Amino acid sequence: MIKRITALLLTLVLLLGLTAAVGASALDCTGDMCPLSSSYIGNARTYKFHYSSCRYVGQMNEGNKVYFESRDEAIDAGYVPCKVCRP
Ligand SMILES: [Zn+2]
Repeated sequence: MIKRITALLLTLVLLLGLTAAVGASALDCTGDMCPLSSSYIGNARTYKFHYSSCRYVGQMNEGNKVYFESRDEAIDAGYVPCKVCRP
């Protein structure tokens, strides 16, 4: 019984920690230091999307960056995968 409660508490703490981490990372998303919470980054001007590690992302104008959490999300939004990083 005690073991069970401990496990439950641990899960809760873990969840809370995760939420806090995600919230914090979303806040200090500035320039090239943007955290890797978004794996895909689209260019609002060319309608192409890249892996966040692609070299083209670094050249992209900050105002043109669109963040996607999944490949499907980017494709649904009408974005085309980059031919260099092939996301
Ligand atoms: Zn790319």
